[in-house]
Amino acid sequence: SLAVSDLDMAYGDVEVLRGVGLTVRPGTVTCIIGPSGSGKSTLLRCLNRLVEPRGGEVLLDGESILTMKPEKLRRRVGMVFQHFNLFPDHTALENVMLALVKIKSMPREEARRIAEARLADVGLASRMHHKPAGLSGGQQQRVAIARALAMDPEVILFDEVTSALDPELVKGVLELMADLGRRGMTMVVVTHEMGFARKVADQVVFMDEGRVVEAGSPAAIFDNPQSPRLKRFLAEVL
Ligand code: ATP
Ligand code: MG
Repeated sequence: SLAVSDLDMAYGDVEVLRGVGLTVRPGTVTCIIGPSGSGKSTLLRCLNRLVEPRGGEVLLDGESILTMKPEKLRRRVGMVFQHFNLFPDHTALENVMLALVKIKSMPREEARRIAEARLADVGLASRMHHKPAGLSGGQQQRVAIARALAMDPEVILFDEVTSALDPELVKGVLELMADLGRRGMTMVVVTHEMGFARKVADQVVFMDEGRVVEAGSPAAIFDNPQSPRLKRFLAEVL
């Protein structure tokens, strides 16, 4: 499991996370929702140490990620970004292979076998020799998801991975993520897609101004919100 406690983070003088706590059980999907600027991306970035929190603790199966070696952390916690972050000069296959070769020090042949399998899993068997520019946004995002899956991480973090996609491509990527959830992948998903959160999440976490304001089942959060702030947020987005 992933256990976040009392996490504080600031950019200079600007406090962005204030005492954030959160538990993610293995094999569950946690969706993080909240207004722009509430600290959702910063929280995710703390979970794989793209930024260093100022205080608090993050335990992965009881082990602090704050003192873990970066290579080990990269293997155990995957991340998928809004803008894919693929290498433009490499094919889909190479993009997935590179992480395995570089971070896992895997021989190229083994990396190729795994990369081909994960790309097939996300429906890209016939497109794996294309470079990102030759793929649709939805396909590029699938490559990024295949790359995260190939590392066989314990948890994958998703930061608004459908926000940059054309509307007609969003559904397919959300369905792929829902499918990963059903297959038992542990996922933390920052999203504006309330339909996805309601349908797929085991736990929904509402953040505002750097704090977790409310957390619970989709039914509790969407059908029976307690705090005025969450009620107002839902009135705006639903
Ligand atoms: P959005 O829904 O718009 O993506 P968010 O909930 O992901 O918002 P964050 O990106 O975590 O919010 O930002 C939280 C706060 O931290 C905001 O006030 C933002 O302006 C500030 N912030 C984010 N990144 C930086 C940075 N690199 N330097 C300074 N301030 C930052
Ligand atoms: Mg964000």
